[in-house]
Amino acid sequence: MVDLQTQYLHIQEDVDAGIREVLASAAFVKGPKVRTFAEHLQTWLGVKHVIPVGNGTDALMIAFMSLGLHRGDEVITPSFTFVATAEAAALLGLKPVLVDVDPRTFNIDVEAIRRAITPRTKALVPVHLFGQCADMQSIMQIATEYGLRVVEDACQAIGAEYRWSDGHTTKAGCMGDLGCTSFFPSKNLGCYGDGGAIFTNDDELAARATQIANHGSMQRYHHDLIGVNSRLDALQAAVLDAKLPHLNDYTAARQAAAAYYDEHLAGNEQLVLPARDPNSTHVFHQYTVQLKHCHRDHVREALAAEGVPTMVYYPVPLHRQPAYQATLPCPVAERLADSVLSLPMHTELDEEQLQHICASLLRAVTH
Ligand SMILES: *Cc1c(COP(=O)(O)O)cnc(C)c1O
Repeated sequence: MVDLQTQYLHIQEDVDAGIREVLASAAFVKGPKVRTFAEHLQTWLGVKHVIPVGNGTDALMIAFMSLGLHRGDEVITPSFTFVATAEAAALLGLKPVLVDVDPRTFNIDVEAIRRAITPRTKALVPVHLFGQCADMQSIMQIATEYGLRVVEDACQAIGAEYRWSDGHTTKAGCMGDLGCTSFFPSKNLGCYGDGGAIFTNDDELAARATQIANHGSMQRYHHDLIGVNSRLDALQAAVLDAKLPHLNDYTAARQAAAAYYDEHLAGNEQLVLPARDPNSTHVFHQYTVQLKHCHRDHVREALAAEGVPTMVYYPVPLHRQPAYQATLPCPVAERLADSVLSLPMHTELDEEQLQHICASLLRAVTH
């Protein structure tokens, strides 16, 4: 599904140099490398603040804490996502209200958001799933209308660009009150362990998030808030700082692989190819097709027999998970959970591999 070894070999010199620098400085925690990387990412994103934290789940949790949400407050988030989005809210005693998604883009359905709003709703938490921005124009409009906060889960979408109706563009994670990302190794900008970050243009929220991530402390041994311990490791920051200059090329490689899939899988009546939102670029964290009538397990087995790995993201929507009780019906999420299939997607796919994957898939679904 991913090829991190080959990617590393291409950037080995820079990564190793960055790691050696941290080793020589022995500044392993909160060293200059972490600050430098955060500044480079800030510039790259065009956002005022990047707050590095331990992982993407922490980023979400700290974002919710920064907004001062209280026990029982409702946050609306899609049912078709990775569990962390709802988990971070639930751990704080907030109620994740899981709503359905759009069958074409897999992203949160804005009409479902409207239907789910109650007097206890405090925040909207769209997920830019698989690398494409949710309908942020509508989401920000609803947030303004109802006085809600917006936390973006941009863990899969770093670098995706959203185009507003007036033509200007903003990067994923930099549109709501706060945005969250993950640097897990397989993410589009991945380190070699765990890592994450919060983005915001709001000075006060940035100060609160920084303080909460540091045991609620601004001045050592003085704690005005209850916080957590969540920090990006300096060694991971060195890896990320070496990779950031390549992120545009990495995205282009993913988009080229997606274009190849589009072209060579087009027209097959068993497959629904991933739709593009006209207002967002797609950075293809995943290339996910829907299978129409064929048996997914059989297709996966046939592909595996030809050396083609596939994954099902996600086989059980969150509203069907025992830990997250269902309140609202999410028929689209259920249909997707039964029919989606993600193909190999990474920065090192070559034409020979892509050709083999497409040929194997077309054989498997027409069998
Ligand atoms: C990866 C991911 C997370 C969590 O990130 P971690 O760094 O693994 O904690 C949260 N939400 C989404 C949508 C993700 O893909």
